[in-house]
Amino acid sequence: MSACYVTHLECSLTGRQYPAGEVHGLSAEGRPLLVRYDLDALAAGLERQDLAGRTDGFWRYREFLPVRQPENRISLGEVVTPLVPLSTPDGGRGELLVKDEGRLPTGSFKARGLALAVSMAKELGLPRLAGPPPGTTGGAAAAPRSPPGLRRLGMPTNGNAGAALAAYGSRAGMESVVFCPDDTPEVNLSEIELQGAVTWRVDGLIDDCGRIVRERSEEEGWFDVSTLKEPYRIEGKKTMGFELAEQLGWTLPDVILYPTGGGTGLIGMWKAFAELRAVGWLEGKLPRMVAVQADGCAPIVRAFEAGEEHAPRWEGAHTVAAGIRVPAAIGDFLILRAVRESGGFAVSVSDEAILDARREVARRDGLLLCPEGAATWAAWRAATADGRIGVDEKVVLFNCATGLKYPLPLVSRHYEAAAD
Ligand SMILES: *Cc1c(COP(=O)(O)O)cnc(C)c1O
Repeated sequence: MSACYVTHLECSLTGRQYPAGEVHGLSAEGRPLLVRYDLDALAAGLERQDLAGRTDGFWRYREFLPVRQPENRISLGEVVTPLVPLSTPDGGRGELLVKDEGRLPTGSFKARGLALAVSMAKELGLPRLAGPPPGTTGGAAAAPRSPPGLRRLGMPTNGNAGAALAAYGSRAGMESVVFCPDDTPEVNLSEIELQGAVTWRVDGLIDDCGRIVRERSEEEGWFDVSTLKEPYRIEGKKTMGFELAEQLGWTLPDVILYPTGGGTGLIGMWKAFAELRAVGWLEGKLPRMVAVQADGCAPIVRAFEAGEEHAPRWEGAHTVAAGIRVPAAIGDFLILRAVRESGGFAVSVSDEAILDARREVARRDGLLLCPEGAATWAAWRAATADGRIGVDEKVVLFNCATGLKYPLPLVSRHYEAAAD
């Protein structure tokens, strides 16, 4: 057993505590559970320099992660994703960096969250064919919210999460079942099916898919690994914050622009920064967190501007950036809280601006962004134009997936070899 510093889980709304080492979904109040660590003990047992020489991607931060037994770490060769500098076309003196998450297994940052969720599922003995999950005889607060007799991991997805679940699930010898909106990019549907998940198209949006998983889980024996409905995907996503800090010499940029769907990454990074602060590893100030959405699906932006704590469902959601087409997020209040605490803001951009940004960065800098990543560039440009971000600031954008997973413009120029 390697050192594990988890003390308990905590309801993100009420602070009520739940024991570690047991199967959990949401809290009794139906809110996300957050993993808490003994950070004093961690700080006493680990120094920043101890990480040097570790080569196993985000598992290099294992002391900050909940997996106890090394053999339960399900890995597909994770890498520390690079920070790629981009040119600043407005002649700014600042720095513009892209954290390119497309280099991870399954081609998106969903690998981080699902690696942790699947590893923890394995550690906790899920899914199992019969009998109660381990530890179900605990106290009232400990009563697991998932039923016995689990057979599969189940999930709604806009594509990338399903691919990561399928891959890490297969790697762990677990079956999974995945529900996707009908118009999910074809390559996602194919990769999910090919990597072993039972894959369903649904004539609805991701929250409709989520409802199917929620309503049928008990009867079908599925463990629901929807974003923030189990406690560990966010622990994987928070490693983006650790990597960023370490790559920047344990400092953070002035601003982070994050394409926000369910918001796991934004909430996760904010949690990571708090943990790094608590162990005394971080130098300088925290960044302003900017939640970027699409004009056609901007519930967080609307709630931010209205000063609301929660973000009601966005009706008729549509955008080319499938990964951020999330009409309602269960962690809405956590996203809004992190954005406000950080002094950041929420902003949306048009599909046209997203596609223009993708073209411009690909041509100018040779980096193919996914539409969601391109949205952060478009938002950065708009925010430097209106002064919300200074041209001399250090900014990090997130490119969450490889641009190759998305529909790309056709090439029509044709050369007649025979006529040459
Ligand atoms: C899932 C996803 C997002 C949104 O990430 P969250 O942390 O859930 O907000 C953005 N872009 C891509 C490509 C995604 O797959």
